[in-house]
Amino acid sequence: MLDMHVHSTYSDGSATIDDIARKAKELGLKAVAVVDHSVELYFGLTEAKAKQRQIEIDNASSLYGVKIYSGIECSIDGAGEIILPDFDFEFVIASIHEFVYGRNYYERILRCIEKNEIDVIGHPFSKLFGFDDNIPEMDRKLVDMAEQLGIAIELNSSHRSPSDSFLELCRDRKLIYSIGSDAHDLSKIGDVGWSVEKAKRYMTRAKLFSP
Ligand SMILES: [Zn+2]
Ligand SMILES: [Zn+2]
Repeated sequence: MLDMHVHSTYSDGSATIDDIARKAKELGLKAVAVVDHSVELYFGLTEAKAKQRQIEIDNASSLYGVKIYSGIECSIDGAGEIILPDFDFEFVIASIHEFVYGRNYYERILRCIEKNEIDVIGHPFSKLFGFDDNIPEMDRKLVDMAEQLGIAIELNSSHRSPSDSFLELCRDRKLIYSIGSDAHDLSKIGDVGWSVEKAKRYMTRAKLFSP
């Protein structure tokens, strides 16, 4: 089991890198990914913080003998853009963190994946941001694009997204999917049961994301 979406004290998480590594070791996780928020949020990961975090990741990784990926979660703005600090991350998650609905939601994501080098679409259609109006024709378009471009769809256990109606369209498609708890504290790390269950059911021909 792995957890590809965890926040640390380098953004709005309460667990340190050392805490995360120790917990991953205790749980026997194959890998854990620290993906702090980017600089569009005032507490986000600046270039300087990313460098410092990398030192801690390397140390904790060898101390505990666990694989820790160095990632980032960027918010997708109204134009489909993201802001990436100047740092060589192992992968990039792009997510919508605003109350956006209907076609606007899809257009943001589609613009983002066409224009930017991102690896994972984070918690698509999260109900925590009020999304409750999937458009089947746009769902299909997004699945097509993700398949074509090789961009992973995240199954996020905190947001419990995407919904079953969307996941139904993922069946038998050659997609990539990622699994994440979106933990902001130690207790939630590795809490990915929801994602694993949905993956088994719907990601029948998909591959698990690996940076
Ligand atoms: Zn997010
Ligand atoms: Zn997150």
